[in-house]
Amino acid sequence: MLCTHWLRDIGQGARQLAVTSSPREKASRLAGVWLLAPRRAGGCMAVCERLGGNALRELLARTQGVLFDCDGVLWNGELAVTGAPELLERLGRGGKAALFVSNNSRRSVEELAARFARLGFRGVAAEQLFSSALCAARLLRQRLPRPCPPGAVFVLGGEGLRGELRAAGLRLAGDEPGPVRAVLVGYDEHFTFAKLSEACAHLRDPDCLLVATDVDPWHPLSDGRTTPGTGSLTAAVETASGRQALVVGKPSTYMFECITERFGVDPARTLMVGDRLETDILFGHRCGLTTVLTLTGVSRLEQAQAYLAAGKPELVPHYYVDSVADLMAGLEA
Ligand SMILES: [Mg+2]
Repeated sequence: MLCTHWLRDIGQGARQLAVTSSPREKASRLAGVWLLAPRRAGGCMAVCERLGGNALRELLARTQGVLFDCDGVLWNGELAVTGAPELLERLGRGGKAALFVSNNSRRSVEELAARFARLGFRGVAAEQLFSSALCAARLLRQRLPRPCPPGAVFVLGGEGLRGELRAAGLRLAGDEPGPVRAVLVGYDEHFTFAKLSEACAHLRDPDCLLVATDVDPWHPLSDGRTTPGTGSLTAAVETASGRQALVVGKPSTYMFECITERFGVDPARTLMVGDRLETDILFGHRCGLTTVLTLTGVSRLEQAQAYLAAGKPELVPHYYVDSVADLMAGLEA
């Protein structure tokens, strides 16, 4: 099992997290604000170096675990990135943990686990998966009365998201009557003006929460076009209601809180591997992780270099690779 190494270290990891959280960060978390200042991983400034050779071997030797984004990192559409399944198996054999952090709110964790298996990734357990759907359910459970009142959550999103919420004991508007206490914006392929109006009607009550699974503006399609992301829908709801959403997915560090509730993670010995600078890499910096951009997805190397030149270090990865398969060269055969 890939996670045993981290599970063994949970006590130590939790202590180290406690030490590395500043009073300001703790206050921010308590206030429900997850915008932390970027930290330098291991005291090293991010300059977007190609990762290979001795630097790669040394980095992986001191790495305890890796957080992977999924879309654009491990697969594109229905195709696994070449070598990605083998990388995960070799990380497991080498005693390195792997966890998966996805902003995709379309699938329940069960469906996401089935996708891993279908695309050839073996031995990935449901508890290693942290989707924005799963984490949104945790946030709503924390913020709404317990047990959840009938019909409390108005959802813009599909059945995968709804299923995850129901599995967490949340009760949804549309399933039963009841005053709505939270509007959750997720990826909704059937978003309409009527749904937007209804969401805004609920949000006129200042005690009604507004939560977004993620704020990804768009997603790439296999033919080079793009499709709107949840961030586009969230912007519509925010504009029409005059409210600001609590964001669950990357770059919010709330997902990292969900991870550290389950696993002890030492940020100084953890990598964040992602394909999007504005979500994955920014998230990694905010959590104090060492960041690696992979070029099989959304962001291009030139964009990272432009952020570096513009003095925006929080959007610059420490390292980049052409593909996650390149990481295998740093592991024992
Ligand atoms: Mg991605």
